[in-house]
Amino acid sequence: MEEILSGGPTAFLAGEMGFPLSDRHYAYQAWWQTEGLPLSLAIDRAGTPHLRQFSPEGERIDEILYPPFYTYLLEAGYSAGIVYEVSERHDWRSSFLLGFITAYYDPGLYCPYTVTFSSWVPIYKYYEGERREEFLAVLGRHDPPFGQGATWMTEIGGGSDLGASVQTQAYLVGGNRWSLTGDKYFCSNVGADLALVAARPQGAPEGIRGIALFVVPRERLYGNGRNYLVRRLKDKIGTRSVPTGEVELRESEGYLIGSPQQGLYCLLEVLNCSRVANSVGVVAHGLHALAQAYHFALRRRVFGQFLAEQPLFRHELKQHYTQLTWAAALAWLCEQWLEAVWLEKPPYSNRYLLFRLLTHLAKFWTAKVALKAAQWNLEVWGGIGTLAEFPPERSVRELLVTDIWEGTRHRHLLDGWEVLKRYNLLPSILELWDVSAVDSSLGSEIEQALDKTEDEIVAQIESLLTRLAQAIGQITATRRLYSILS
Ligand SMILES: Cc1cc2nc3c(=O)[nH]c(=O)nc-3n(C[C@H](O)[C@H](O)[C@H](O)COP(=O)(O)OP(=O)(O)OC[C@H]3O[C@@H](n4cnc5c(N)ncnc54)[C@H](O)[C@@H]3O)c2cc1C
Repeated sequence: MEEILSGGPTAFLAGEMGFPLSDRHYAYQAWWQTEGLPLSLAIDRAGTPHLRQFSPEGERIDEILYPPFYTYLLEAGYSAGIVYEVSERHDWRSSFLLGFITAYYDPGLYCPYTVTFSSWVPIYKYYEGERREEFLAVLGRHDPPFGQGATWMTEIGGGSDLGASVQTQAYLVGGNRWSLTGDKYFCSNVGADLALVAARPQGAPEGIRGIALFVVPRERLYGNGRNYLVRRLKDKIGTRSVPTGEVELRESEGYLIGSPQQGLYCLLEVLNCSRVANSVGVVAHGLHALAQAYHFALRRRVFGQFLAEQPLFRHELKQHYTQLTWAAALAWLCEQWLEAVWLEKPPYSNRYLLFRLLTHLAKFWTAKVALKAAQWNLEVWGGIGTLAEFPPERSVRELLVTDIWEGTRHRHLLDGWEVLKRYNLLPSILELWDVSAVDSSLGSEIEQALDKTEDEIVAQIESLLTRLAQAIGQITATRRLYSILS
């Protein structure tokens, strides 16, 4: 464990997870250690970037002004292949390995890559209209200038209940071209070349089934000028390496992905990709927090000994490390399943539904485990940990955000439970993972709870699904079962 905590993300991936790495992974980590991290710290310190809304001629331009080295930092990940490993080679493992290294240092910066490949997927799978190749080429560019994607669903009414809150309207102009009008409240990677936007086609039913997904380019393809406007940038406590803004769509051009009836599937598939990436990324950053704690403890003396030698410190470090290892196993299990099912379309197979359940479990549980590790790191640094000039507080800020975006804990608990119940997935789970080996009564407790109404089981859901996530993670970690599907 100590050696891994000193060796950075590649040491964990190779030593703990057993993934074969190549020179480019080690080179990418070395780049982060020497160049990337100082730049990332400067960006975090600088806070919210500046929004230049008008040109000197008074034309609306909505440019986001970052320090020049931001582009350099961002392009390193695109050049390394985080996006093109998916778009060119369909190699999710390679992409996520690079993502893990990125997020170890800067989980916010992992967002632009994640939303770019998550935008590429539904266009690749469902988009049939003209401009398909053009859009795919923008998002899959191998060399600079890299094309950036984004996924904008949330409106002021809330992100959990998109069926009720999405009010952006779309009407057909002609061909596959639609006109979109509405406001998006949380738009990460704002300024992206192409954004996937959730909107309601005219005449669509109420609720989630009435939402379709559109490609919205930054520049109008018919006519001149910006196709979407940036009202303002959010002043965030963390993830400052990705700009998040509010966006106004005003008769903006949108290009429908698939059919209006496929909107819900596109939406869920986008979310599945980014939730798996979030799970991988938070574990990486939680590990960084443990490395910080360990290295601080090697230098800090308490009661005549280095803190790192105190039994209680060693016990707690081991506990957090073990939990993170199990969380990492669950996240990488999801990656493996994503690789196996990402091309599926409805009607989905049983294994796709199992993947969905695993994704819900992984999103909420990995985020909690990583955040706890970061909070513990801050505590290990004592009073110094509370000072903004040292690393622990940043990790906490970053992981507070990654816990919320891509869906909050409540939503994943409730949605995960619904998937488990509706599709009767418990027997398949117990067949794939002998959870009784690590938690003897868990299977029967879940079985009994499945007969209850939502009102009756709300007090139990968190405990049951946390134990399930942990059991699957533990079994996977112990047996290195990431390839259970092949
Ligand atoms: C930095 C940042 C960047 C973001 N970027 C994007 C983006 O690029 N694109 C995008 O579409 N969205 C984005 N989001 C929005 C994000 O997805 C939402 O914040 C998230 O889904 C939660 O929605 P909400 O904040 O509106 O909370 P709400 O949906 O209003 O929920 C409020 C609270 O109610 C809880 N809750 C919900 N349902 C229940 C229930 N049945 N029982 C009990 N409690 C419940 C929630 O867990 C939460 O605690 C971003 C958010 C942040 C913070």
